[in-house]
Amino acid sequence: MKPHKYLLTEDRIPQAWYNLVPGLPVPPAPVLHPGTLQPVTPDDLLPLFPMALIAQEASVEPWIEIPKEVRGVYRHWRPSPLYRARRLEKQLDTPARIYYKYEGVSPAGSHKPNTAVAQAYYNKREGTRRLVTETGAGQWGSSLAMACSFFGLECKVFMVRVSYDQKPYRRALMEAYGASVTPSPSPETESGKAILARHPDSTGSLGIAISEAVEVAAQDPTAHYALGSVLNHVLLHQTVIGLEAIEQMEMAGDQPDVIVGCTGGGSNFAGIAFPFIGRNLKGKGNARVVAVEPSACPSLTKGRFAYDFGDTGHLTPLAKMYTLGSAFVPPGIHAGGLRYHGMAPLVSHLLDLGLIEATAVQQLDAFAAGVEFARAEGILPAPEANHAVAGALREALRCKQEGVRRTILFNLCGHGHFDMQAYIDYHAGKLLNFDYPAEEIAMALAGLPAV
Ligand SMILES: *Cc1c(COP(=O)(O)O)cnc(C)c1O
Repeated sequence: MKPHKYLLTEDRIPQAWYNLVPGLPVPPAPVLHPGTLQPVTPDDLLPLFPMALIAQEASVEPWIEIPKEVRGVYRHWRPSPLYRARRLEKQLDTPARIYYKYEGVSPAGSHKPNTAVAQAYYNKREGTRRLVTETGAGQWGSSLAMACSFFGLECKVFMVRVSYDQKPYRRALMEAYGASVTPSPSPETESGKAILARHPDSTGSLGIAISEAVEVAAQDPTAHYALGSVLNHVLLHQTVIGLEAIEQMEMAGDQPDVIVGCTGGGSNFAGIAFPFIGRNLKGKGNARVVAVEPSACPSLTKGRFAYDFGDTGHLTPLAKMYTLGSAFVPPGIHAGGLRYHGMAPLVSHLLDLGLIEATAVQQLDAFAAGVEFARAEGILPAPEANHAVAGALREALRCKQEGVRRTILFNLCGHGHFDMQAYIDYHAGKLLNFDYPAEEIAMALAGLPAV
């Protein structure tokens, strides 16, 4: 295949992000204003986001040019490497060929800077002084803190309480980049106070932290809000992963039969998968695409496809997505980045259309897979990424059982160097599998807004 003019240039970084929306057979459901239940307008979003990102959120252009300032930062670590996991293949004694795209080479150690840099750039260009956000495991917070320091913005991060306690080094990294970090729920916001009044020992959740960040950003005219996953523009920015992977697979003379990614809010999964799904839709490929989520927070496999709030405090618009209910507080698994009650509307839409598959993995199986991977390939994955590794191992073992040689590509979305406490606990036998929290989910789903 001839390189598309928008794919890779001389320096091998994509020149444009790939927007899957215009290529879809059915458009996704609109995002609704929670008061009027009418589709949100750009004006509704202006207190929170810069115009450029609002435009991207609703864009039906297939390609959106990456500003040169953003590509200039991407150049520090992009293109990220694609590896063939030969030692892992041998260790598994599988006929499968396994490839992984490694996003842990970014300075913050995950895929998140791909969108953090873009969001900081557009905010700076439109005069924002301060960005407010939430973080689960700390990867998004550190990525945005870094991007803010590159573009001269202040950064405030609400960090989910359980991670704030489990991951002091992530917090230290954010502070090193110049951000201020507050554990969530906090007494600094009305949303945080409401939670603390009912649950003084709350371990927090992404849904709660989002409410706090949105509240602070909406009240400060010099501030905007930034989200590290879920939204269309975030998924869009992550497509650099898949665009590079398409070209790198071609350089390797191979094509994926199966593509695997882990899903918290859906952004790294979308990043690797959407460009390949676009090819599938054009009849130029037929790769299966598998999303892997934790059994303790199974939005895609056990959630309902319905309109719901993106946050616990009900400050956000309503999006149609696979959700466990915005009141659901997931168990404190170590994959903090996967503890979100909902799923990106676009990823949800693809599952509803049957264009992707979803599967769930228990915490201990995810860690076992990550350790097996590290022993073969040397890279210690983030706890979130362990879910993608576990999904890829399952596919590889199926190839072995069926005696079929398939090519598997998965996204290794980050390294686990800041998650060593999780590995210490795993090796000490202290990590638990969580049963599917059926009762709490049923309760949370009963509270879905009537739309
Ligand atoms: C944030 C994060 C995730 C979960 O978010 P997605 O939007 O689903 O990608 C997964 N892995 C890593 C390493 C992360 O930092």
